[in-house]
Amino acid sequence: MDIRVGTGYDLHRFGEGRRLILAGVQLDEERGLVGHSDADVVTHAVIDAMLGAAGLGDIGTHFPPGDPRFAGANSMELLRVTLALLSERGWRPVNIDTTVIAERPRLAPHILAMRASLAAVLGMDVESVSVKAKTSEGLGALGAGEAIAVMAAALITRDS
Ligand code: MG
Repeated sequence: MDIRVGTGYDLHRFGEGRRLILAGVQLDEERGLVGHSDADVVTHAVIDAMLGAAGLGDIGTHFPPGDPRFAGANSMELLRVTLALLSERGWRPVNIDTTVIAERPRLAPHILAMRASLAAVLGMDVESVSVKAKTSEGLGALGAGEAIAVMAAALITRDS
């Protein structure tokens, strides 16, 4: 069996007039993240981890930020396409782990919904999809609540 691991990272800044969508879950917040797509920073980091594991480039390779086809894109749809790209090459995800660095909002009440949302698209058990939340202890731009950053890891496998 082939086994590969990949990592992903993304950051989006907050802006007015945007919805806050994390791992496909829309949170009831006044401000959201700014981006060409729906700015789902969690899903973007997961996509990069999966593409990285499979050696298939990164999210910008497959979904260029300047491409009008992806304006306002639902990132869960991009995740679905990413899974298909891996599946075509025989890869399937074993587990996903993420760390969300957000000063606010408090994410604990939303963690299970975020895990379930990613797991549903990826066809995985919720137990195999982890979302963890941290703050930046008030330090720097993340600590000032100006942005949310996410780190992700993906383990994938295929029969050799
Ligand atoms: Mg992004």
